Amino acid sequence: GYLAGEQLRRKIENGILELYFSATSQLIDIKNLVDRNIATKLEAKLTFLSNQLRTVMADELRLADVDGSGFRREIQLKNLSNLMQKRLISLQNPRHCATARKLQCYLNKGCGFGCQLHHVAYCLIFAYATERTLILEGNGQTWDYSSKGWTAAFLPVSDTCLDHGTEEAKFWSSLEESKNHPVISLPVIDELRNGPSFLPQSIPKDLAADLLRLHGYPPAWFVGHFVDYLMRSSPQMKKMLSIAEKKVNFANGPVVGLQVRRTDKIGSEAAFHAVEEYMVWADHWFALQSLKQGKQLRKRVFVATDEPAVITEIKKSYKDYDVIANSNSAILANLQDRYTESSLFGVIADIRLLSKCDYLVCTFSSQICRLAYELMQVRRGDAAASFHSLDDIYYFGGQQAREQEAIFPHSPINEDEIELQVGDIIVIAGNHWNGMSKGRNKRTNREGLYPSYKVKENWRIEKFPSYSNVKI
Ligand code: GDP
Repeated sequence: GYLAGEQLRRKIENGILELYFSATSQLIDIKNLVDRNIATKLEAKLTFLSNQLRTVMADELRLADVDGSGFRREIQLKNLSNLMQKRLISLQNPRHCATARKLQCYLNKGCGFGCQLHHVAYCLIFAYATERTLILEGNGQTWDYSSKGWTAAFLPVSDTCLDHGTEEAKFWSSLEESKNHPVISLPVIDELRNGPSFLPQSIPKDLAADLLRLHGYPPAWFVGHFVDYLMRSSPQMKKMLSIAEKKVNFANGPVVGLQVRRTDKIGSEAAFHAVEEYMVWADHWFALQSLKQGKQLRKRVFVATDEPAVITEIKKSYKDYDVIANSNSAILANLQDRYTESSLFGVIADIRLLSKCDYLVCTFSSQICRLAYELMQVRRGDAAASFHSLDDIYYFGGQQAREQEAIFPHSPINEDEIELQVGDIIVIAGNHWNGMSKGRNKRTNREGLYPSYKVKENWRIEKFPSYSNVKI
């Protein structure tokens, strides 16, 4: 029926993409081994093959929209989004604040903006899963990012219940030991012991059937709603955002969002990636969309970065593109000026604008890009496939192991590969974007590479409260 059909379509979409990765990277590998004459010929073959594969991808994209079905799925996801939003509002504004069960969480985790936002998102997920109102301690005080605190940029996390009251807070110990205490205080996720199974990347059982039918990557959709709730703009932020949005002018046609993370990240937490590596994927996306729509599209990129020189470089080297950047933000994001309010507005505007783009090219090792991807799911419905990451697969810091299940056997061809038997569970560490993923087979306990197409995702479906008092 319809259910299987939608999931099958997305499996084919992913299958073509994995085929694209594996075929092109194999040609590139050979090209690097042979002399110049043959390399030139292989280059031509590569272009031929890429174009051919894109025609199949374009047809598949048309299939996703056939007879308005894409639009119908979008509406259904919107309804689920509204439900999530209402549940969060209800959780955060209990009828009797004094007696409501609460979860205390501290702002100012010692890390960057994206990391802090994800820290509070983890607290809110915890609050949602345990039906406790999230109390964000320190939210009215000075924040690393603003002397005016959290509310300089965002609405308070509650309208009616901001204080943990007279009850003494108990430190979290375990689900069982904590359940009868009115106020629980939560550590950062890195220090959490006895982490409950509802933590990312779990999805709630009550929405799972709908989500798996409607969305290509339900955990990102789910996390996105917590981030979206937290990032509700303050009046001042709203003004700033509307100015920034006018500049991009999304009504003017599609935009590919690039986030180029440089400065302090390089060498410590991520490798350097040249601008060309990003632009290959912008080119790919515009070629694909031009095929799908049967007309040449104007090529536009929105560039978010912590390194202003990147914007100059793209403007200079890619004259066939309109290059848009949120002018202040890149400069203001520069490290010396990182902890000022203007840099706060800059980074939020970049995240919001990236999330509104049609496709995202970035490194998922950056929390900024993962935030943009999560928000994109809330805004667009199923934008699961609307990205290319140059490094990591999507993850949530401190998450539980992400498991896949072998659907085909595999005998290693090279010594860095692992064996698979149908039904084996693999903990995935990453996708090498060349047809192969890396992970650990739980049966053999061996770690290594395996073909990405030989596994399927094993979603973590967990029981969450049903919030049955909240109706759409
Ligand atoms: P991560 O280090 O990239 O995972 O993300 P964090 O949020 O933890 O730290 C990065 C910090 O660098 C942010 O808080 C920003 O101040 C700055 N930054 C990084 N990338 C960007 C960007 O694309 N735009 C802007 N405006 N600032 C950025």
